[in-house]
Amino acid sequence: MTFVKRTELQMFDGRQIFYYDREPVERTAVDIRPFEPRPLPGDMRQDLLTGEWIAMAAHRQGRAFLPPKEFCPLCPTKSDFGTEIADSTFEVVVFENRSPSFSAPSDQLPPETIQASGRCEVVVFSDHHEGSFGSLEIAQMRTVLAAWIDRTREISKLPYVEQVFVFENRGEEVGVTLNHPHGQIYSYPFITPRTTKMFSVAQAHFDETGVPLITSVIEREFKDQVRIVAENEHWISYVPFAARYPYEIHTAPKKFVPDLAALSDEVADAFPSIAKEVLLRLDGVFGIPMAYIAAWHQAPVRTGRDVLGLHWQITSIRRAPGKLKYLAGSESAMGAFIMDVKPEQSAQQLRDVQL
Ligand SMILES: [Zn+2]
Repeated sequence: MTFVKRTELQMFDGRQIFYYDREPVERTAVDIRPFEPRPLPGDMRQDLLTGEWIAMAAHRQGRAFLPPKEFCPLCPTKSDFGTEIADSTFEVVVFENRSPSFSAPSDQLPPETIQASGRCEVVVFSDHHEGSFGSLEIAQMRTVLAAWIDRTREISKLPYVEQVFVFENRGEEVGVTLNHPHGQIYSYPFITPRTTKMFSVAQAHFDETGVPLITSVIEREFKDQVRIVAENEHWISYVPFAARYPYEIHTAPKKFVPDLAALSDEVADAFPSIAKEVLLRLDGVFGIPMAYIAAWHQAPVRTGRDVLGLHWQITSIRRAPGKLKYLAGSESAMGAFIMDVKPEQSAQQLRDVQL
């Protein structure tokens, strides 16, 4: 199994920071930036027409936007400029977001406020400023996965969190505001709209068949073969039957688990190689780094754990070099997706990429 050591330290404003190391390194670097109070938690409101929760995070407007490399807050601290990470080197680091959309409940807000309770964290994949998850070495990807697993396990214990969402955005086209390789973890005080919908479909399937839906989906992909992009002993990657984006790839463990925390070491060890292959294939389609959103679908913390299966969903909005798919009228207003590439075609393109 992969040994990973976690060291917990405190940041200048009281936030927690966790270092994940493959070697038993002593981490003691002190964040010497002058103290600044943390923003109060935001509130959230329920959409009167749909019942969906909307987080009101107005304080996020002031956050860093594409700073030059020498002012990157995710680089290690090597000069007088104190970054978010006080050490001068690191492997993988996770810390609480400085301007979170969801944060621990506070008694400083008026009682009629519905607080956006939860937790938002930043996962820094490397101390090198360039790259993304797929460009890391396999061992480093495994350390990132260990951090995702550990944070999912720990955050799931918070009484005010219902769902833990681990994701990476890559490319300015999908709203990345910092170029340094990193991802985020959003932990919500409610079950998100998409998961709510997936839960009801998966529950109906389970009631009818006694089998988790993702297990039946994988069976079908093996039967059809035409949408499979990659496979190894423990994982399968495929373009879903009704993909919503020009390049959408789902990667799932062959054996059902509800979330990252439930992955065995053996299955986790097999993830980095297939993840790397999938991301290389994605970049290989047009020979350019693809903008994407890589999202871990996990069962909620307290419900749906025997029917909703873990999978890693990559969606790219790039249709062709120089062309992006915008969420236009039908998608934005009605949530009804229109696709102009057949999933079997994009799976073929992805398989044809020479690695
Ligand atoms: Zn950086």
